[in-house]
Amino acid sequence: KESTSRENNVAKIKVVVRKRPLNRKEVSRKEEDIITVHDSSFLTVHEPKLKVDLTAYVEKHEFCFDAVLDEHVSNDEVYRETVEPVIPIIFQRTKATCFAYGQTGSGKTYTMQPLPLRAAQDMVRLLHQPVYRNQNFKLWLSYFEIYGGKLFDLLSDRRQLLMREDGKKQVCIVGLQEFEVSDVQIVKEYIERGNAARSTGSTGANEESSRSHAILQLAVKKHIIVTDTRRQRDRDANESKNTKAVGKISFIDLAGSERGADTTDNDRQTRIEGAEINKSLLALKECIRALDNDQIHIPFRGSKLTEVLRDSFVGSCEHTLNTLRYADRVK
Ligand code: ADP
Ligand code: MG
Repeated sequence: KESTSRENNVAKIKVVVRKRPLNRKEVSRKEEDIITVHDSSFLTVHEPKLKVDLTAYVEKHEFCFDAVLDEHVSNDEVYRETVEPVIPIIFQRTKATCFAYGQTGSGKTYTMQPLPLRAAQDMVRLLHQPVYRNQNFKLWLSYFEIYGGKLFDLLSDRRQLLMREDGKKQVCIVGLQEFEVSDVQIVKEYIERGNAARSTGSTGANEESSRSHAILQLAVKKHIIVTDTRRQRDRDANESKNTKAVGKISFIDLAGSERGADTTDNDRQTRIEGAEINKSLLALKECIRALDNDQIHIPFRGSKLTEVLRDSFVGSCEHTLNTLRYADRVK
């Protein structure tokens, strides 16, 4: 799409498709690879079909995206294609979002997991450049989960969090713990701690985590130096109030896109969760459509997920939404 922040040449929405290799199960079932990546933006899906007289034929579907990455592309190349170009503009009052959309098993977690750490590496490096060091910029990390329409802090014993709109119509998550992270090793430890706290149930970790959206945010903040000692004392009580937000990038490992279909499941809890996921993925789609059409009104109130992303959708300055999509295998 046409660039909104021309000087940086970063598009407002970028859709990248990553094809994953067939897994062992698919290979042992002799399933066919039906996706062909032609070049860096073009792929074909060959859908096997049967005519009424049961003769087989293949229907060809062609798709074009901002970028298409085949099964040989490494996670590092995914980073360079998707997140890396956005990092410098986070330091220039921009909010960006990167998320993975796809069915459970399509490779969302595999792809999303390394991204925040790589981003933090580059962000820490930028922080040390004289231009930013002199501005007193610092990096902050938070990690939470939306599960069944409720928010849980993954870095403070899954404490439930509430959302509130402040006077400036900014959505704020009350009680969300944010940590200043000055080096990559610390970022790694927080990510691991958060991952361990993701919802797991009797059915096993991957099964359960595919029912929640995990949101990791890296924020650049400007630290305000207070010289008045009395005010300094007040402010020390709440370190984060001592700062001014500059920019932010959110990484979202979305719930499996097939979960919406769980609304017909016999289990009541599963049905409720399915309905909630359905609602949030639909709301996300509508927000993206509105952004894409340059609509003034972004329908972020459709779900908790889109409310959380409100400030990234309707920032006062340019906003960047970086979408990472998956080559879902056509069933
Ligand atoms: P999801 O989070 O979408 O449910 P996962 O990321 O857990 O899916 O991926 C499912 C399985 O496929 C995992 O075992 C993962 O290691 C593997 N996988 C996913 N993408 C790739 C890839 N690009 N290359 C190799 N293995 C992959
Ligand atoms: Mg996953």
